Amino acid sequence: MSRLIRAVIEPRALRHNLSTIRDRARRARVMAVVKANAYGHGLVPTALSLPDADAFAVARLEEGLALRAAGITQPIVLLEGVFTAEQLLEAARHGFDLVVHDALQVELLEEMTGSHRFVLWIKIDTGMNRLGFPPREFPAALERVQRLKPAPLEVRLLTHLACADERDNRMTNAQLARFRETTRGLDYLVSVANSAGIFGNAQVNFDWVRPGLALYGASPFADASAAQLGLEPVMSLESSVIALRRIAAGETVGYGAAWTAPRDSLIAIIAAGYGDGLPRGLEGGTPVLVAGVRAPLVGRVSMDMIAADVSALPEVHVGTGVVLWGPGLPVEEIARHAGTIPYELLCSVSQRVPLELR
Ligand SMILES: *Cc1c(COP(=O)(O)O)cnc(C)c1O
Repeated sequence: MSRLIRAVIEPRALRHNLSTIRDRARRARVMAVVKANAYGHGLVPTALSLPDADAFAVARLEEGLALRAAGITQPIVLLEGVFTAEQLLEAARHGFDLVVHDALQVELLEEMTGSHRFVLWIKIDTGMNRLGFPPREFPAALERVQRLKPAPLEVRLLTHLACADERDNRMTNAQLARFRETTRGLDYLVSVANSAGIFGNAQVNFDWVRPGLALYGASPFADASAAQLGLEPVMSLESSVIALRRIAAGETVGYGAAWTAPRDSLIAIIAAGYGDGLPRGLEGGTPVLVAGVRAPLVGRVSMDMIAADVSALPEVHVGTGVVLWGPGLPVEEIARHAGTIPYELLCSVSQRVPLELR
């Protein structure tokens, strides 16, 4: 049976990556970031594969609800907090921990009645200029949070780095200095590092770390591969050859006749396209693994199909397995060919691609 595109997920690699992260940030507890459907890896199966994660972090209330519905009992942090009183009640009901990043969220907490005591992560904007209290507004926000009735179960502090993926970056140092200065004298647990912070700058691995990309086995750095960081890819995006064409020199392949065969060629048509989340802008020459061997894409990505030149692989037949990224073909490398980052490729794997646990 020839099988169409699927994302094969390796829970063992997830656990391996978590333990690599723990080796890098030995004192820290790990909040596994599983937003955006666990970067395309499946929210619930990913969380269930990580029983040792100290907490999970999501971007949306609904993601937290799905985790609780699946029986996840670890703390769940809503990275952007809540936006309405109804959401706040839901968050209380399901025991979510909240990021508090603006005065409106403090007001919601002040106005909430009942006896629930939250773990609250106050976010300080040290220069990302996206979410969080600017340093000068932080003391007032902290005071209001400390006065909440009932009192928070625990207050913690976090910030997010803009340039952690570049080593020895001045912005990172400036953000760290601002964070230290803003939190000086306070005795709360803090969290700064995302994946790039964890592997790039040991200084930022404070009480909690927040890895996303690294958990899934991809490198956040342009100058270091996942393998060099001790990470293993978790997703293998696989499909198969659904047709073969022998074409003569001068013939073209696909929409726009965008590729012309320089010589007589054997072309494999593969069941994967932009309908599955492959970027249409993938350039010609992007490698795919056909029966484990690299072959270059030719012509445009269409909705359901791509084509690869397999002239060097005479054994290829209909049904031959193809890997679009995964072990042996890093998603980071494919991202470079698409002019994007591995985050976007992983998150873009579309609904029609079934996830299979290995
Ligand atoms: C998404 C996110 C992370 C994870 O970032 P990675 O680069 O994937 O490790 C960490 N912290 C916050 C606040 C986030 O939004």
